[in-house]
Parts: sequence; C-alpha cells; structure tokens
Amino acid sequence: MKITSLDVFQLDLPYAGGTYRLSHGRDYDSFDATFVRLRTDTGLEGWGESTPFGATYIAAHARGVRTGIEEMATGVLGRDPRLTDRVWDAMGQRLAGHNHAKAAIDLAVWDLAGKALGLPVHALLGGATGQRMPVISSIHAGSPEDMRARVADHRARGYRGHSIKIGASDAEGGPALDADRIRAVLDGRQTGEFFLVDANGGLSPEHALRLLNLLPAGLDFVLEAPCASWLETLSLRQRCSVPIMLDELVLEDSDLVHMISTDAADGLGLKITKAGGLTPSRRQRDICRAAGLVMSVQDTVGSTLSFAALAHLGSTVPPHLLRCILDVRDMVTLPVGAIDAPIRDGGILLGDAPGLGVDVDASLFPTPVASYSL
Ligand SMILES: [Mg+2]
Repeated sequence: MKITSLDVFQLDLPYAGGTYRLSHGRDYDSFDATFVRLRTDTGLEGWGESTPFGATYIAAHARGVRTGIEEMATGVLGRDPRLTDRVWDAMGQRLAGHNHAKAAIDLAVWDLAGKALGLPVHALLGGATGQRMPVISSIHAGSPEDMRARVADHRARGYRGHSIKIGASDAEGGPALDADRIRAVLDGRQTGEFFLVDANGGLSPEHALRLLNLLPAGLDFVLEAPCASWLETLSLRQRCSVPIMLDELVLEDSDLVHMISTDAADGLGLKITKAGGLTPSRRQRDICRAAGLVMSVQDTVGSTLSFAALAHLGSTVPPHLLRCILDVRDMVTLPVGAIDAPIRDGGILLGDAPGLGVDVDASLFPTPVASYSL
C-alpha cells in the first residue's frame, strides 16, 4: 500500500464568539485552515488538518503550513501510511521544524492507517480507556462579568472545565483586573469543575506574583503558561505555590524533557499541531505519563479533523492523568464533516469508526490549492 497523491485545500474558519482576545492585545476573528487529502493505490483516502491560531500565538502561521507541505510532499508520496513513524521521518528529511506543516500530513496518514487496518486511530494509539473525557471551554479575555457569563453558558452545555484567559496590560487594568476575572469566574464554581487560568505566556513574574497576592486563599485553579520564557517561568515557579501547566513553551520532545528535568510544571497542554501531529504527540503522551504529569489534550484551534485527532489521543490517556480535552469544534462556525462524539454526561466518548472517524463534507473542498502525485 502506498500514498499516490496529496491534495491541499484552504478554508477560513470564523471564530464562533466574534473576536477572541488574548494577552498582549492579540485579537483573532477567523482562522486560516489547511486541509490535506491523501489517496492511495488501494483507493482509500485520508484527511488531515492544520489550523494555526493566527500568526502570533506560537512560531507557526497558516501560509507556512502550505509552503511546508510543498517542501515535504515528494517525500511522502510512495510511502506506506501504516508506517506512521517512517512517514514522519521522511518529512523531517525534507524540512526541519515546522511542526504545524507536518501535522496536516501526519493526521491524514493516521486516518489512512486506521482505515487500512479497519481500526479507529485510538486503537492504533494503544486503545481507548472507555471513560468519558471531560471537556474544557476556552473563555477569551473580557470583563469579569462577561467571562463569568460565558462560563455559565458552557456549564449549561455540559462543560466541566474552563480555560480562563488572562494577561491584562497595566493600561487595561493589570494584575487587579486579572484577579477580578479569576474571582468572578471561580465564585460560581460547581462541584467537580476545574479551572485553568491561562496567560498564554503574557505575564512577567512580577505581574504574576502581584496577581497571586491579590487573590484570597483557597481558590482552586491551575496557572497555565504564565510566562513567555523558561527563565521567567522557572523564576516564578520557585516563588509560587499554585500548580503550573505549560503549553506554548513545549513544542518538541526535548522541550518536554527540559520541562521535566527542571521541574518547571505539573502538567502539559498537549496540542497535536504544536507537536507536529499524532506521531510525536503519542510520544509526548508517554513521556508525560512516565513523569506523572497531567495532560490537557488540545489543539491550537481547528475544525472537525483537528478535534478528531485530539479526541483519539485523549481517549488513550489514563483518566487520572487526563485533565481534559478541548472541543475545538466549539470555537469555529464551520464543521468540515460529521463525527460521532457528542458531549454527554459530562464528557465525550468516541465511536469506533475506522481512522479518524470523520465523514468529511466533500462539497467544502471542490478545488485543491495545490496537488502532488506520483
Ligand atoms: Mg494554553
């Protein structure tokens, strides 16, 4: 079995909540998404996706996905998609780094591998635990009252966790506003709920310490990605008692090993595209497990295919280490296919359809922006 063609498609995915606001004045209205369709000599086709969170979130941008695919395409053609690590290595032989470009192809490879073997991707990743995965919302920065209302809305829709974005500049209100946001949201906490307070690297240690000093004792939350650099993060880590998860600082396996060796955090935001697809994400899952780290299995953003990939990986994480998954479907207005994965009884359970299990809506993809074939 070999890959015979690679088609690239582009779609804009509007953000479902109007404008998404992050620390440092970063605003996003829509996300430029790249989709990959691989076809094989057996007639099977597999689909993948890579949707960077704009161009200022991490070192990834949407046009770079498509240019990166152009660099790697000839190395993928002719490969057996069931040999997932070997295809990933072939991409690396043509392009260093650029995980976000590799992810689009890697997801399509896993989709094909599952379809070829008649198994869901979660089975190829070691097997689903059979436990419902708690789902986390993504609450962009706003006024305390507005953020509290959006949490309540997600709570009513079955979300058990909430990711609260903070990082107000001094002009916006600084640590005092961030403290008000956290207090307002955690005030309404229900039994069994959890909160990640995510600064997306937007705090100096000074801002973070002032913020934490403004909060009353006993608030139960995890501080995610407080600072933009390792030095700042480690400085804060030594002076704060709140548990910390990292996200944007960890892209490569070596970043994760560094995080563990310096005891920089208690958990990881494991994002499929950030890592370079399911192939490296599977490794990072196992490294986290070996180190006893909690995982929040996510992606930067994306549509149905990105959601499927993270949900398959999340299905294989032992429940005591799975903090949550992110339902990226909720963040954009355009689903690109159907998948059997409703939020029910506080979580999501994936079905057993082969591959990624997404019935892609072909009408959304009439014309590729690039095509490569044997
Ligand atoms: Mg994060």
